[in-house]
Amino acid sequence: MSSSTDQRRNVAVRPRNGGAAAVNGFIQNVSSRRPSLNDSLVGDVQAFLIDEDQLHTFDDLTKVNPVTPATVLKCLQARYSLNVFYTHAGCTLVALNPFQPIPDLYSVDVMREYHYATQPQEFKPHIFIVAEEAYRNVRGQLEPVNQSLVVSGESGAGKTWTSRCLMKYYATVAASSPAVSCQDTVERIERRVLDSNPLMEAFGNACTLRNNNSSRFGKYIQLQFDRDQLLVGASVQTYLLEKTRVACQPASERNFHIFYQMMNGATDEQRNDWKMPRSQCFTWLPNSEKQIEEDSFHETVEAMVHLGINTERQRQIFRVLAGILQLGNVSFCPSTNESQPCDLDERSEDFSQRAAELLGIPAEKLRTCLRVRTLQAGKQSVLKPCSQAECEVRRDCLAKVIYGRLFEWLVTFINSCICADTSKWCNFIGVLDVYGFECFQINNLEQLCINYANEKLQQHFVAHYLRAQQEEYVSEGLEWSFVKYQDNQSCLDLLEGSPISVFSLLNEESRLNRASDSKMLRVRLEKELGGNGNISWDKFSKVPHFTVTHYAGKVGYQIEGMVEKNKDPVPPELTGLLQKSDNLLLHEIFSGKETEIPNNKELSKVTVVSKFKNSLESLMKLLLTTAPHYTRCIKPNSDCRPLTFKRKEVVLQLEACGIVETIHISAAGFPIRIPFKSFLQRYGLIAKCSTSGHLDADPDPDSAGVLQPEVEKLLGAVLPHHVSRHDHRSLVHCGRTKVFLTQPMLDLLEDHRKRI
Ligand code: ATP
Ligand code: MG
Repeated sequence: MSSSTDQRRNVAVRPRNGGAAAVNGFIQNVSSRRPSLNDSLVGDVQAFLIDEDQLHTFDDLTKVNPVTPATVLKCLQARYSLNVFYTHAGCTLVALNPFQPIPDLYSVDVMREYHYATQPQEFKPHIFIVAEEAYRNVRGQLEPVNQSLVVSGESGAGKTWTSRCLMKYYATVAASSPAVSCQDTVERIERRVLDSNPLMEAFGNACTLRNNNSSRFGKYIQLQFDRDQLLVGASVQTYLLEKTRVACQPASERNFHIFYQMMNGATDEQRNDWKMPRSQCFTWLPNSEKQIEEDSFHETVEAMVHLGINTERQRQIFRVLAGILQLGNVSFCPSTNESQPCDLDERSEDFSQRAAELLGIPAEKLRTCLRVRTLQAGKQSVLKPCSQAECEVRRDCLAKVIYGRLFEWLVTFINSCICADTSKWCNFIGVLDVYGFECFQINNLEQLCINYANEKLQQHFVAHYLRAQQEEYVSEGLEWSFVKYQDNQSCLDLLEGSPISVFSLLNEESRLNRASDSKMLRVRLEKELGGNGNISWDKFSKVPHFTVTHYAGKVGYQIEGMVEKNKDPVPPELTGLLQKSDNLLLHEIFSGKETEIPNNKELSKVTVVSKFKNSLESLMKLLLTTAPHYTRCIKPNSDCRPLTFKRKEVVLQLEACGIVETIHISAAGFPIRIPFKSFLQRYGLIAKCSTSGHLDADPDPDSAGVLQPEVEKLLGAVLPHHVSRHDHRSLVHCGRTKVFLTQPMLDLLEDHRKRI
């Protein structure tokens, strides 16, 4: 295990694969645009230095020279102030959130413009360039390549908005082809795919302090395309829903949207059926006076209808949700006698009665299961009354397990109606929208998992970029150029490594089930991982915690409650009860599920971190089989105010996602590759290269060998004489079959060409 906290390695780099052709169709990779110029090129540097007044005109941050957080920030700010929200950063697209609708920025006409353009990348930076590039690449030149659009950024930065935009783009351009034979089917499927969004958001999003429509789960949507590149279906994989929210909402935040939608949008008849009179207050429905755009019950029901959830199913769903709300109003009084279960006051008797009716279970059994634990002693069962606190935990567990499984059912249902038959599709474009890096005043297991996911994605970003770079350099026999980058392996080792890591210790403590697990976890973390440079402790802190140095910054995690959350226990008496529910939906989602308490060995496999780690590993494997495209969403101000750019907040986000490094990596590579033949055709006249004869021949490897000296002659004629050979290499490389250029070099060549 590495102990370095800020390990930097020298690595060979190259720009991304797969950029579409540009400039008259002969330049092969323009995704990573304008690199910064080597400082030693004094003679020509003036030609490329950036004029501050012109900063807003630069569509790609690799043009900024020098590339520093300050210059990048200035450029983005200049653009934002002129309502320009997208900027390339080499292989990444930076998207600034305008926090207000921008007319016509995402219209169908704009989509079509990008889609039908011969060279969309010559258009203004836009999320549609990324979408279109992925769409063109999915066909692949030799064989089809699946694509992934990875959208990242902090809460409220615009990830979900961007993902929706991408989906709408494909639903529009991939369904509007005149070659569609059965338009109806295609229209219906695209509509269903889009309708999965409001439905999942109603159940999985909530109004938080950071974002009125904050996604409380991660998702990867695979959009499936047939041989004609038409959208024929989709499938969704979700990650770690924050189900604790259903029973415990952070101060000033709300529960999941769906509850408020029901409360505000139901008819009197529905309210009656759900036992939700207007006058009723619900403990688990805080801040309901805050009305937001996303509170549209009508839209959710409409999406349900389009997806084929019939009225009876809808009724079952809403009654389950209403039952959860009633459950939240049940409170327990401490028992005067330890051998007796806690009491319920009169109102709680009523609430539990209604909860039981809505959940389709006998009220008396519900009350007993909430207040009495059944312990198994050999073949005999022993009943043990729970304390007030234990009853509350059991009530919350019940709500969480119901909501969690309802969400799972919903996702499975959505998949069953949008997923195309495997024989009907051959490629996919995946859109990944996962929660961004989180650092609150108090962080617990949820943040640990979220930040771990971000570490994994960052690692994928760097590894993909570098690996692809190396492959092409090797195949073209190029000398490697080197750039430093942040390696987060040591942090991942700390979190998930074996044999000992934060996760392994957490699982071990969950398995041991000790009374003082928090204390023990702290002691063991300190003793067994104390040598790791990525973990530290504030010796004076009264609250047990540990601090992890993530690639995006330090985060302190509270240890209290972590082991319990990791176990995510579900009292088997409660699930047993739900299996027998009269509510057909509940019965369905609980029957067949494990009601036994897992044994010790099984427990570490079913803990929250184990399940999350496994699902992320599958995601990473899948991502590695695809060509990725990265979009970094930036939140220009934490107040979500329209068109307001706060420099300090933006610079922190730029640092956290390593944008400056990304630009350096892009700039250090050679984003433009031109086959020798095309190169000589375009620039041959500059050095009066004799190209006839060779150029007419087929581009076979031998002709490349013949053309190489001509190319070198041409380059020698163009490059400034006072620039050393070493510096030439930072501008241009002659490979085996192609010339590798930086943007300044291309500009230089174009300049010479114009002067002929
Ligand atoms: P979370 O991680 O909390 O889910 P997020 O990154 O998914 O956050 P979004 O919900 O996509 O954030 O965006 C927050 C809000 O910002 C949106 O509800 C919308 O009001 C606004 N917004 C985001 N992107 C745009 C855009 N391109 N144009 C206009 N408004 C936008
Ligand atoms: Mg979101």
